[in-house]
Amino acid sequence: MSYQDITQYNAACYTPGRPYGITSITIHWWGDPNDHPTFEGVIQTFTSGARGTSAHYVAEDGRVACLVAPGDRAWACGDGIGVNSGGNDKSISIECNPRQSDGDYQTIAELVRDLRAVYGDLPLYPHNHWFNTACPGSYDLGRIDRIARGLPDTGHAAPVPAQSAQPALLATHVHYRLRQQGGGWLDEVTDFGPGDNGFAGMPCSSHDLLTVRVDEGSLRYRTHLLGGGWQDWVDHSDINDTVNGCAGVPGQAIDGVQLYYTTPAGRPLSQAWYRSQTASRQGWLPVVCDDGTSVGGDTFAGMYGEPLDRLQIAITDQNPYQ
Ligand SMILES: [Zn+2]
Repeated sequence: MSYQDITQYNAACYTPGRPYGITSITIHWWGDPNDHPTFEGVIQTFTSGARGTSAHYVAEDGRVACLVAPGDRAWACGDGIGVNSGGNDKSISIECNPRQSDGDYQTIAELVRDLRAVYGDLPLYPHNHWFNTACPGSYDLGRIDRIARGLPDTGHAAPVPAQSAQPALLATHVHYRLRQQGGGWLDEVTDFGPGDNGFAGMPCSSHDLLTVRVDEGSLRYRTHLLGGGWQDWVDHSDINDTVNGCAGVPGQAIDGVQLYYTTPAGRPLSQAWYRSQTASRQGWLPVVCDDGTSVGGDTFAGMYGEPLDRLQIAITDQNPYQ
């Protein structure tokens, strides 16, 4: 017997990569059993990002949904990200049905077996090992462990999210461009895509001005100066007006960008999702959603002290960088 793999959902909130490794599995329950919370309900909470939380797996009798790949970090344990935390940074989190039926224990144990087959003999911890919380209630981790160790190895692989996730819906086009420090304005980019439209900026160089505009709704943006502070918010776009139509100070490198989108009345809530790279390191830094107050995560794109060299922006209802 095995469980059904459910892979079409992706959590809105997570942090890419596992710089601290994977050293345990954390057991959660997804709410008070007296409220009869549902499998679909908890998936909806994580895909919407409504609470700024996520888990790698949601499991109950006969089915397992993977919303964050084990190779990335879920926002599950409340003990911080990027700080070598035992829970969020180094553990794989499983949200379990709080009714605790025999079938629930069986499926959770099968998932634990499948994860151990890939990641080694990971110990199980309750969520409250990492953080002061009632989670996972009365879940019996010893029982999960005993069942998992008694199961035959079927070679079944724990699911990972499908690559062909539903694309995020663009609420509006966003047009943006950076000016190279000591150079000229680079081409305008709309949203982001492959090739020339992949990002604003010039790899391995510094930029001093940013301008951004949206077709619908309103957007404010600001920049942080290398060796300096945050500048005033700007809500217009005009490359000929370096005071009110651009963010930044001519001649000074940008090392941080912050955006905030306001959805027009009557339209589905959307946010600015953006990310950057620096001239000093490879790869995209974590995705930022507005100023980080709505779904958590980083509060700006960039890394203080390192010139920003690439920027991507989309205005959507969910994380478009999957
Ligand atoms: Zn928990």
